[in-house]
Amino acid sequence: MTIIDGKKISTDIQDEIAIEVKSIITNNGRIPHLAAVLVGNDGASETYVAAKVKACECVGFKSTLVRMPATTTEQELLSKLDELNADDDIDGYIVQSPLPKHIDEYKVIEAIAPEKDVDGFHPQSVGRMALNLPTYLPATPYGIVQLLERYKIETSGKHCVVLGRSHIVGSPMSILMARNEVPGNCTVTLCHSRTSNLKEFTLKADIIIVALGKPEFLTADMVKEGVVVIDVGITRVPSDKTKTGFKLLGDVKYDEVSAKASFITPVPGGVGPMTIASLLLNTMKASRKEVYN
Ligand code: NAP
Repeated sequence: MTIIDGKKISTDIQDEIAIEVKSIITNNGRIPHLAAVLVGNDGASETYVAAKVKACECVGFKSTLVRMPATTTEQELLSKLDELNADDDIDGYIVQSPLPKHIDEYKVIEAIAPEKDVDGFHPQSVGRMALNLPTYLPATPYGIVQLLERYKIETSGKHCVVLGRSHIVGSPMSILMARNEVPGNCTVTLCHSRTSNLKEFTLKADIIIVALGKPEFLTADMVKEGVVVIDVGITRVPSDKTKTGFKLLGDVKYDEVSAKASFITPVPGGVGPMTIASLLLNTMKASRKEVYN
């Protein structure tokens, strides 16, 4: 059994990007520039955005943090996005979610210029992904694709079962695994809360990607020997064994499922660390004008 080390792969990717940025600087090229828009002062969002800005600094990107108060109106935010869309110095930007309730998140996503949509949430990015055209893939699915690729996990002809159909993980993952691509070329089954006899599907799966938010949902009796398991779930649960008083659990009962798996991602340290690497990869693509030129 191989434990897929997302922390290592994420560091490898960041090192590769840092080398590319150094070479851009040596050749007097334009340094990639990512902007992040943060509306309000939600604690978790502050942490996520700070980590993204720090990662930009570490690889040598330029970064701009645009802070707006929680009272920002939808129109004010849309005007700010117009400015970022028109700013030739900014290659790509993200708008950190969740947004205050009075702002329509979909209106905001649609206002992002597709060529700067490094989060890959714009309908045009999603459509291009479905058509297998060059695009920005959403961070978590892109991270999983990187893990499968870098661990050289065979996917062609395999039966992949995706648990969960969210717009940010499950649905895009099902599209990516079915594409005529490497990794891809799987026969895909997408399961959700209305799926009957879910275990019948997981027992037949060569690859299982779990994105439910249900701690330790996938148990050993639900999988076959040699299965590849990608655990996206992260749930904070109380624990008296840690200083913080909580621990993070994935959607997979790791100890028992890992005994049957050929490859498995741990939680934490599997899919989670890949999110930032994906964002940096997308910003690099935007800077190289790889998707739209
Ligand atoms: P979500 O939007 O809540 O979607 C959960 C999905 O699971 C839904 O499609 C739901 O079905 C399905 N589901 C719930 N209970 C089920 C059950 N008993 N049987 C079958 N399907 C069931 O969640 P998400 O945003 O995709 O996130 C999933 C997990 O991944 C969360 O723990 C989240 O924190 C984590 N996550 C991690 C990362 C990372 O970087 N590692 C990134 C994103 C998310 P319905 O559609 O029918 O309701």
